[in-house]
Amino acid sequence: MRAGKTVLLMFLLPAFAVLVFSFGIGLLSLQSLKSQYLINSDIQASDLLTLHQESTFKRDISELHQRVSDTLDAARKGALSDIGLYRMHAKLVDDLAEIEEQVEVLANSNLLHEVNHDSVQGLRKSFTEYRGLVIMATEIAAIDPSTANTFFIEAQSSFNQFSIFSGRIAMLLTERTMQREKEARQRHEESFVQIFVFSLLGATLIFVAVLIIAIRISGHVRDIADALSELSYNSQSDIRLPKMERLQANSSGEFGRIANVILGFRDDMVRRIKAEEENHRLIFYDALTELPNRCFLQEQLQYAVGTGSRVNNFHALLWLDLDRFKVINDVRGHQAGDDLLIQVAERLRQMLREGDLLARVGGDEFAIFFELPQKQQSDAAKEAERIALRICAGLSREYFVDGHGHFMSASMGIVLFSDRHIGVETLLSQAEIAKYQAKDTGPGTVSFYDPNIQAEINRVAELESQLRSALDLEQLILHYQLQFDEKSKPVGAEILMRWQHPEKGLISPLDFIPLAEESGLIVPIGKWVIESACNLLSKWQFNPQLRHLQLAVNVSAKQFRQNNFVEMVLSIIEQTGAPANKLKLELTESILLENVEQAIRKMKALRDEGITFAMDDFGTGYSSLQYLKRLPLDQIKIDQSFVRDIVDDPEDTVIIQTIIAMGQALSIEVIAEGVETEEQLNLLSAYGCQRYQGYLFTKPVSLSECLALVKRFLN
Ligand code: C2E
Ligand code: MG
Ligand code: MG
Repeated sequence: MRAGKTVLLMFLLPAFAVLVFSFGIGLLSLQSLKSQYLINSDIQASDLLTLHQESTFKRDISELHQRVSDTLDAARKGALSDIGLYRMHAKLVDDLAEIEEQVEVLANSNLLHEVNHDSVQGLRKSFTEYRGLVIMATEIAAIDPSTANTFFIEAQSSFNQFSIFSGRIAMLLTERTMQREKEARQRHEESFVQIFVFSLLGATLIFVAVLIIAIRISGHVRDIADALSELSYNSQSDIRLPKMERLQANSSGEFGRIANVILGFRDDMVRRIKAEEENHRLIFYDALTELPNRCFLQEQLQYAVGTGSRVNNFHALLWLDLDRFKVINDVRGHQAGDDLLIQVAERLRQMLREGDLLARVGGDEFAIFFELPQKQQSDAAKEAERIALRICAGLSREYFVDGHGHFMSASMGIVLFSDRHIGVETLLSQAEIAKYQAKDTGPGTVSFYDPNIQAEINRVAELESQLRSALDLEQLILHYQLQFDEKSKPVGAEILMRWQHPEKGLISPLDFIPLAEESGLIVPIGKWVIESACNLLSKWQFNPQLRHLQLAVNVSAKQFRQNNFVEMVLSIIEQTGAPANKLKLELTESILLENVEQAIRKMKALRDEGITFAMDDFGTGYSSLQYLKRLPLDQIKIDQSFVRDIVDDPEDTVIIQTIIAMGQALSIEVIAEGVETEEQLNLLSAYGCQRYQGYLFTKPVSLSECLALVKRFLN
């Protein structure tokens, strides 16, 4: 682009201004110097002329005086004839007239007028006297030389007089000239200062003007650079350049043109990005539901299985097929079918979390892809199934199509994977196979691709449903494991639940308590255990052999968190009439995970009524040390994992010693669970442990066996 008006002006204007200013200042200085020089030289010339006239006068009068003296000498000696004397006299008269003219010129000169008027007058007067006396002396010289001589002597005094005057005038003139010279120099200096100040002011003004222009230019240049960088880094279809729009509107020169070009470029870029987006939309999105399509899903799957960052995490791919979708198409037409699909897509969208991928992969088929946080395959599978069932339930609510209500179910296949080496096509086909399996099972069902997972899911679901009726069917039974003091005397027992399953036999609480917690069944089951304990305690209080025994009941965190837990326990105590101080509730550190303050309040409320608390599995949970002090505890149970290795593992020994020391410091009783050998018992006893529970004494047994054991140990 050629440099145009604005740019030229912007760059040349400052230079031009400096040039014009310098030229002006130079001219002004020269002009002032010239006029001062002329004035000074005029004055000097006239002063010099006056000085010249004055010295000419002095020279002429001295010559003339000498001639008069010579003439009078010659006359006295008779060396001159009368004619010669007369000629001399005439010549002297003429010369004196000439000199008088000189005196007049001198007397009228400016310098003399300025210098001293009196001296001029004196000069004039003395000269007039001298002239008269000289004329008279030369006139009578031929007749009477002695009288002439008398006149000459008088003339001599006048001569001396004006010689003094003229000397004074010469001195004054010289002084005057020097004074003028000094004044002229002063004037020079003043005008130099004036010109300097003026130049400084002018230069400052120009500097400010140039600065303003420079700031404006650099501002424009910066805005242009910003706009260009925005263009290069922004790949959105919405690129806003407000500064360029302002520049285009407000500037008509080059900057306006540059802004114009940049905005044009931006518009082109936006058009291109939009076209690309549209293209991308057409390739990767479904036009009807605006959901991602199969292509998009494939890309995302490729990414998920292709990146190392996602290893170890489980992912689920759900393949969903609407049941009997064809019917609505056939009966109500394709438009109605499309409407329904849009509604299904919307419902699915609302049911999913951010980050889950939903795609329409076929006519009435949708796929959902998400990551699961669970580390165990069974947990992840359970979560995936829960999500799938929730989606199925959401989809089975009524739709309104074409003014008619319509119900619709969906069958869903699930593929769970964590192996990043699995191929995308394999995944897709497994999901479709799982979907066909679900369809085969019946409409509205969910099926896993992995038959093992499916079997596990089925097993757990079945167990859960059986657990629901286990309590009513009296399949839940209680075992009792005695607890002993230092002298191996029974001081109480822990109640441990078992499930006597009709087909599977005795099921461990480790297998069904988590199920009961998840389904909420733990609340009625837990209540039943406390009731059973209290019923026993109520009976034992009248039996001298048993009345000192405490019964410990395990309370799960979920059960403990129930709002009415305190009231529930207290009402059981009241109803059964059990001695509250014989009921011990075993809590685990997981109760601290939520509201600690509330947990403490509940414990205190129950403790006020005499109920005691033990912290179960102590040492395996969270930073309970800081809470231990605040929790109203009566007992801590050293977890059996530490007891197991106490003989071989020095670390466990230290842990146990620490727990016992802590208990002693806080006056909390310490019991060791899982004591299996004499060696363990001896060590625990040596460290100061006060209570013991474990196979060394007895396994958890039925109530009748337990009572028999009590009798045996007491005797
Ligand atoms: P827990 O409360 O820590 O119970 C101690 C567990 O250690 C019991 O397992 C017991 O049989 C076992 N045990 C006792 N002495 C020894 C020993 O010397 N060696 C070994 N290896 N094990 C010993 P169990 O009966 O299988 O109970 C497991 C867990 O189930 C209990 O751990 C408790 O957390 C839970 N649980 C049991 N009954 C109930 C209940 O009624 N309600 C609740 N919420 N949880 C219960
Ligand atoms: Mg326990
Ligand atoms: Mg325990």
